[in-house]
Amino acid sequence: MSAIIAQSGKSPYYLALEEKYGAHNYHPLPVVLTKGLGVFMWDVDGNRYFDFLSGYSAVNQGHCHPDIIAALIEQAQRLTLTSRAFHNDLLGEYAQFMHDYFGYDKVLPMNTGVEAVETAIKLCRRWGYTVKGIPENKAIIVVCAENFHGRTSTVISFSSDPSSYAKFGPYMPGFLIIPYNDPQALKKALENPHVAGFLAEPIQGEAGVVVPDDGFLTKARQYCTDANVLFMADEIQTGLCRTGKLLACDHEHVRPDILILGKALSGGVLPVSAVLADDEIMLTIKPGEHGSTYGGNPLACKVAITALTVLKNEKMAANAEAMGKLMRQELHNLQSPHIHTIRGQGLLNAIVIDHAEKDAAWELCLAMKDNGLLAKPTHGDKIRLAPPLTIDREQVLESVDIIHKSLTVLD
Ligand code: PLP
Repeated sequence: MSAIIAQSGKSPYYLALEEKYGAHNYHPLPVVLTKGLGVFMWDVDGNRYFDFLSGYSAVNQGHCHPDIIAALIEQAQRLTLTSRAFHNDLLGEYAQFMHDYFGYDKVLPMNTGVEAVETAIKLCRRWGYTVKGIPENKAIIVVCAENFHGRTSTVISFSSDPSSYAKFGPYMPGFLIIPYNDPQALKKALENPHVAGFLAEPIQGEAGVVVPDDGFLTKARQYCTDANVLFMADEIQTGLCRTGKLLACDHEHVRPDILILGKALSGGVLPVSAVLADDEIMLTIKPGEHGSTYGGNPLACKVAITALTVLKNEKMAANAEAMGKLMRQELHNLQSPHIHTIRGQGLLNAIVIDHAEKDAAWELCLAMKDNGLLAKPTHGDKIRLAPPLTIDREQVLESVDIIHKSLTVLD
């Protein structure tokens, strides 16, 4: 059914171009999108879909939010890039805005999420050597199994997923992988005086929205403090109202030493990421020791200020909290034999499919696509359900109806 739809209309033309001329490093659903607005996207044949991926949680504010697009256009007509060889009239205001918004002394602006993770790793190691006094080149960063922090060669060096790391070695040393959600394992790992930092996702998004036990973040924070180790939270996917609070760490009132942001920092408009820390940590990197041509460009600064303002003005954290609860409740009410687990926080959710067929989650996603909702399996049997945070009650109910109808494909 889906294969037939995919091969009709205008989409085959675009699918064939990508297949022939684009690298084969993704396996997308066969849908070709051309327009987005709020919680919806449209394909080249005019079919409308609920977006339940939100650009992997980059489009929290909804597609083409008018305020963000207006800021983008206005700034793009004035000044887009100066490099950091010179000052621009937005970086300072953006840095102050970020200070006021998140409560850290300083921000280091980057572009993609993984660049921000790389920046945090460098910052943490630098602090380890210059403040904590770890012997040169001995610093260790503790990370969690099943993590996803991006795709660079350093970051995949501490992935436990072979599809991320296999045959891309040799790998960067200096990382220790412990089980996620295991405070005792963390405590033990932190006994090594060479540990400079602990890097974790407050909820593991790519792993299939794995929510740790209540108290995990609190304990991790405490153990890091006790061991004089930096707690680094990768909130690239969980941050910016996605889980029902500004940051997922806010659910436990935990303040990371290094906060890593990306994705929705621009509302899905351009790559904008950031690392936040206080002076004792941030000022260990000196001029000329780290940077990026596009990092802190005026267009990104303007867009990020607007994207963050929109989140607050439109109370998106509260909406994510309420609509997430409603969605999980409605999914439970379906009592589907094909859904093994429903989990998540706010509007970062996943269902785990229970089915003998290995491709069941993919088949369900194809059926949902045919019925007007786009989502993507992650790690085989899990499907993430993460719409823009602007979704309303009626739209949640309509979406769950689509999922319900689509589940019959697994009967
Ligand atoms: N960290 C987390 C938690 C992510 O979910 C992602 C992307 O999905 C990244 C880092 C990498 O971000 P980017 O793809 O922008 O490099």
